[in-house]
Amino acid sequence: MIKFCGKGVYGAVAIGKISMFQRKDVSVKRLKITDTETEKRRLEAAKTEAVEQLQSIYEKALKEVGETNAQIFEIHMMMLDDADYNEAVIGIIDSQQVNAEYAVAVTADNFAEMFAAMDDSYMQARAADVRDISNRLIDCLSRPGTEAERSCNEKVIICADDLAPSETVSLDKDSVLAFVTAHGSSNSHTAILARNMNIPAVIGAGDEFLSQIKDGDIAIVDGFTGEIIVNPDEETLKKAEKKQIADLEKKALLQKLKGKENITLDGTKINIYANIGSVDNIGAVLMNDAGGIGLFRSEFLYLESNDYPTEDQQFAAYKRVAQSMGGKKVIIRTLDIGADKQVDYFGLGKEENPALGFRAIRICLTRPEIFKTQLRALYRASAFGNLAIMFPMITSVAELKEILSVCDEVKRELEANNIEYSKDTELGIMIETPAAAIISDKLAPMVDFFSVGTNDLTQYTLACDRQNPNIERFCDTHHEAVLRLIEMSAENAHKNGAWIGICGELAADTTLTETFLRMGIDELSVSPSYVLKVRDVVRNIDLSKSV
Ligand code: PEP
Ligand code: MG
Repeated sequence: MIKFCGKGVYGAVAIGKISMFQRKDVSVKRLKITDTETEKRRLEAAKTEAVEQLQSIYEKALKEVGETNAQIFEIHMMMLDDADYNEAVIGIIDSQQVNAEYAVAVTADNFAEMFAAMDDSYMQARAADVRDISNRLIDCLSRPGTEAERSCNEKVIICADDLAPSETVSLDKDSVLAFVTAHGSSNSHTAILARNMNIPAVIGAGDEFLSQIKDGDIAIVDGFTGEIIVNPDEETLKKAEKKQIADLEKKALLQKLKGKENITLDGTKINIYANIGSVDNIGAVLMNDAGGIGLFRSEFLYLESNDYPTEDQQFAAYKRVAQSMGGKKVIIRTLDIGADKQVDYFGLGKEENPALGFRAIRICLTRPEIFKTQLRALYRASAFGNLAIMFPMITSVAELKEILSVCDEVKRELEANNIEYSKDTELGIMIETPAAAIISDKLAPMVDFFSVGTNDLTQYTLACDRQNPNIERFCDTHHEAVLRLIEMSAENAHKNGAWIGICGELAADTTLTETFLRMGIDELSVSPSYVLKVRDVVRNIDLSKSV
């Protein structure tokens, strides 16, 4: 039995087998071969495996995200069977006497270029699909024997050096018991995703941890204490099982608060909404009785994809969220890519200080075609529910003016084309830079609401990189400067008829719930699994008592 310690980022206990995270090697080598027939047989076997995978993904998607969104996997199955595509791959194997992986990669490039050059936007979007199916084929070709692994659906504890947000979001939630990383910070998006996905997680367990474990080891992951115990003895295992049961019972008890109001003892009401990163999280939002969605991090649609999601793909996702929430408010934040959320196909390049660099609204205002595509999808979806749009990383009035004028342009275009959208769509901004908080008196009259992003507001106010685990002790989220900026923003919002919420991780810090209520915060948006816990705390606060 060996003990390690990191930082717990989602409080729950997991017990199970360790599985080392396999990072996909995306580089494909060109190998000269003599036996082309064997290569073609390998290709056929890989195709069969890829179709089987797609069939099961299709069935899962059908249940979780509905037919419209699941259809893409049917299209992928058809594409794998496309005669032109297959002839091209076989042609390269035969003519160049090369391995199947290489032939597939070259075909993918050729077809993707051909699609991308077409005038029709539907056909252009197929470029991403052809790359996607080809990557799946290459994966099946390069990892023989994985079929057996994949069919074994035992849940495991994923262990890695670190996980990028795009890797975390791609984890198959149904097969992950917990995850542990050797590095990483508790304010990173990887940690936030763990909370959104209700996955017990410990980060920063150290290099020693990685060097001491192997596939198949049994481990206890305690997301409360940050402790990981590898190959525990009987007694330790029993204790962990007890703790796990007690935690589940406590969470079950909170379920009794479902359907109850978020109201303090003196009668002050507040909205408690949920944060999500994917359409898949809606189930958790509804199960935990959130009053709405206070932050949909739309960039994860981009992170999950191999190419820019099209207007129609985005529209389908936003519409589904809006419809599933049945009239409850859904606040979708526009693309907040950059810093730790890197997407290769954006070609952003390396930066000295990415958190202070080309990210979020700065990208959208510099590349309006990306911004307008997203806004069109959002406005179209607004006809199907109670949608609000929120903009990240605002620092100036000029930026906000520019954003509002792009919104007006998009609305005019939709009207000209007789496309329906809701004229009541609320617009809001994130208060996540000190600049935005300080000029909140100027910004508030221009919008319907503010939502405080305490993760970035803390980082920028205290000059503490949220990705850097070495300075976490200086990154005091309760710092008076941060709280004063929130209070100042709340006052300015209310003076100008706007409402204000908090959607950063601090919204779930129940030691501050009363402070936020006293500031007049109207909404707290937290990971779905924290909704009932915050409700419980709100219901026991008495604001009539002076502090
Ligand atoms: C924040 O900064 O608090 C926030 C909610 O946005 P993100 O964590 O996605 O940067
Ligand atoms: Mg932020």
